[in-house]
This record gives sequence, C-alpha cells and structure tokens, in this order.
Amino acid sequence: MKLTGKLALITGGGRGIGRAIALAFAHEGADVAVSARSRDQVDQVASEISGNGGCKSLAVVCDVSDGTDVQRMFASVSDVFGRSPDIMVCNAGIAESAPLTKTNDDLWRRHLETNLSGTFYCMRAAVPAMLAQGWGRIINVASIAGKTGAPYIAAYAASKHGVLGLTRSVAMEVGGKGITVNAICPGYVDTDMTTRGVENITAKTGRLAAEALAAIKQMSPQNRLITPEEVAALALLLVSDEGRGINGQAINIDGGTVLF
Ligand code: NDP
Repeated sequence: MKLTGKLALITGGGRGIGRAIALAFAHEGADVAVSARSRDQVDQVASEISGNGGCKSLAVVCDVSDGTDVQRMFASVSDVFGRSPDIMVCNAGIAESAPLTKTNDDLWRRHLETNLSGTFYCMRAAVPAMLAQGWGRIINVASIAGKTGAPYIAAYAASKHGVLGLTRSVAMEVGGKGITVNAICPGYVDTDMTTRGVENITAKTGRLAAEALAAIKQMSPQNRLITPEEVAALALLLVSDEGRGINGQAINIDGGTVLF
C-alpha cells in the first residue's frame, strides 16, 4: 500500500482517466475525493471506493472553470477530511474540434477556462497546504496536444500547451519544498472523450465509425488506444516515493506518436 495516509483530490474523477486514477490510488490505500460538474458518476466512483473498505471517499460537484466553485470544493474536502489534499490531480478537461475560422469565442473560452484556468485554480488552492507540510504531489493531465499541434484543435491544443507552461513554472517554484509537479501527456485513450471524437468525425465526414477509429489508432506506431489504467499506472509512479525525483516533466504515454 503505497499511499496509506494520503488524501488525493481528482477532478474529472467520474469516468475515463480520472476514474481509473481514483481507483488506482484508493487501491494503494489513499483516501480519495473525486469531482465533476455532474453528480451521478462521481457518486458511483466514491461508493465503489468506500464499498471496497479501508479508504474514505467523497464525491464533490464542482465546475473547475469557476474559481469560486473550486474554492468551495476545497472547503468541502476540508470539512470532510479535516485537511487539504496531499495529492492533486488536475484531470478535468473538454475537447471539441473546429477549424480556426469556426472557432467562436465561446468554444475558445470554454477550452481555456476549463483546461487551463481550471488547472490553475486547483493548483493555486492545493499548494499552500503542501508547502506548509513540506510534501505534495501535483499531476496535470495534459495531452500530446500540449506538445504539438494538429488541424481543427487550436483551442484544445492552446489550452494544453498552457498547462505545460504552468506545470513547468510551478515545478521550479516549489520543487525545493518537497512538492513535485508533473504533467501526463496521453495520446488517444479509450474513453468517452475519444468515442465523442469518433462520432464527430463520422458526423462531419460521413466516414464509418470503424474507419474513423482505425485512423485514430494508426496515429500511434502501436496502432491502438491507450487504456485509462495505463495512464493511472503512470500517475501512481509520479505520486509514489519511487517517483520523487521526477519533477517538472511532461511525460508522453502515447505508444510513440510524439517523440519529444
Ligand atoms: P472524459 O470526457 O471521459 O471525462 C472527463 C471528466 O472531466 C468527466 O468526469 C467530466 O465530468 C469532467 N469534466 C469536464 N469538464 C469539467 C469541468 N468544467 N469541471 C469539472 N469537471 C469537468 O475524458 P477523459 O477521461 O478522456 O479525459 C480526461 C483528461 O485527459 C482531459 O483533461 C483530457 O483532455 C485528457 N486527455 C484525454 C485523451 C483521450 O484520448 N481521451 C487524450 C489526451 C488527454 P462532467 O461532464 O460531469 O463534468
């Protein structure tokens, strides 16, 4: 049990990557709070964790794009657990595509506010208690779109590039105080987000869903999607003692699609 006595807060913890990370951390003995905008899925994950015995869990409704709501989330966590998280996973995110000229202000702002500002609000709220106790782990779930561009994802890629700048700067700022800050950069992962991407390609191009999915898989030399559990295993390394020397990194988990 690598995380006994630790408290983790995972945004976007109701499904997909966030859910897998929440379950993996609980499996290693952490108490876990999961949050999302909607209640049902986070409630399910929290009951799955507490149902397995041992760890405490909490489901919180919070829209990370709203800084006040993020403060409320930290207050709820503090009310229930009596302290702030030792481990913060900024995972909540959205991904929609559009050509630049059809990227309206709303789509642009939605991406920047959720993916980038949401990560900033959570990091800013989490760091003070980590500094006070001289130990903390922050993981930002970015994307390979934080390192490279692609057609039709200007807003998403800009927001994820921003997450890497945030990650690297804060890692240097707090790296001497017992805190590590890293980003995980997945390629396509087998989650609802990818399913929606496939549906979108199908709707816009008329291609069959199977063809669209095959094209996505072929972007990776491994010709497959990454599983949420693989991302969770990397997250576990970053928060565990064995990962304490890893700081300020943006680690790809994409089968070798992006090589920097
Ligand atoms: P999913 O769409 O499956 O899950 C996203 C989660 O984030 C849900 O729990 C959702 O719940 C929550 N969420 C979305 N917006 C907000 C918000 N404003 N405030 C709080 N919670 C929110 O996505 P994935 O699990 O696939 O993605 C997780 C992260 O991984 C994202 O940051 C994504 O960009 C990144 N990623 C994903 C890849 C993929 O191929 N799937 C590839 C690379 C990176 P609710 O809707 O109830 O709020």
